[in-house]
Amino acid sequence: MRCPAKLNLFLRVVSKRDDGYHELETVFQTIDLCDELEARNSTGRIRLRCDAPDVPTDHSNLVIQAASLLRSRPEASVSAGAIITLRKHIPVGGGLGGGSSDAACALRLLNELWELNLPDKALQRLALDLGSDVPFFRRGGAAVGRGRGEILEPLPDGEPLWFVLAKPKEGVSTPWAFSILRPEADDGVSIDDFLAARREGSPQALAPCLRNDLEPAVMAAREDVAAVAAALRAAGAIGVRMTGSGAAVFGLCEGESHAREVAERLDSPAIDWKTVARSLGAEATELL
Ligand code: C5P
Repeated sequence: MRCPAKLNLFLRVVSKRDDGYHELETVFQTIDLCDELEARNSTGRIRLRCDAPDVPTDHSNLVIQAASLLRSRPEASVSAGAIITLRKHIPVGGGLGGGSSDAACALRLLNELWELNLPDKALQRLALDLGSDVPFFRRGGAAVGRGRGEILEPLPDGEPLWFVLAKPKEGVSTPWAFSILRPEADDGVSIDDFLAARREGSPQALAPCLRNDLEPAVMAAREDVAAVAAALRAAGAIGVRMTGSGAAVFGLCEGESHAREVAERLDSPAIDWKTVARSLGAEATELL
């Protein structure tokens, strides 16, 4: 099963909540950059193998946490177990949601493998227990996320959008990015502006409506992230934003050939990884 990455095309931090989380207004979009997850039955034990040396395979991995949560359900057999194989293509610490997407795929795969038939509501609750972004990945496509990101309003699939993604070597920790957030006057574009531009359909209309409130503080503290963004602009991307808490930055392009040109021109010593990606609608995500 393929587990797609996401971009936050719009991310407004509305307020800080009493439970330590932040109230968000965000637009998620799945893209065709994917990890791959497979699982087979193995009586009594849960084991994760991963090809990326920087990815832990113990309980700190959300895939193992997803498997453990499912196995602790009363519907699961006491002997339920699995050998899970994860092939990583989505960089870690990028704000691309790789770990969350892997976890959402693990819930789906193991619910089937162990024949648990958990209802949608129960799966959605387990998803939120695993992380704020995990509920979105159960459907994918494009969606507005409110609350912690789990109150989802699906958006119709638009025309495909093309991006160049780039990331410096060092990732960003999400709690750190939220902790340095600076309360600033809310003078950014509104979600209504973003959604109106999205309905218009052209990347040119969308470019000035991209927003990420976590970006100013992260870029002020991390020269490498700011340098990646500057390089994407210099290479000709028409709208450049960090995704989630970074450190990956995306450049919106006019179409496929423009994206390939931008990727080719993109050059900065700050860049450790880059790729061309396109948006994936919910239907395409379902077929992965
Ligand atoms: O939910 P998740 O485990 O992905 O969140 C990681 C961290 O990101 C939280 O502990 C919190 O510091 C921050 N966060 C937040 N508000 C959100 C989502 C995440 O403050 N809506």
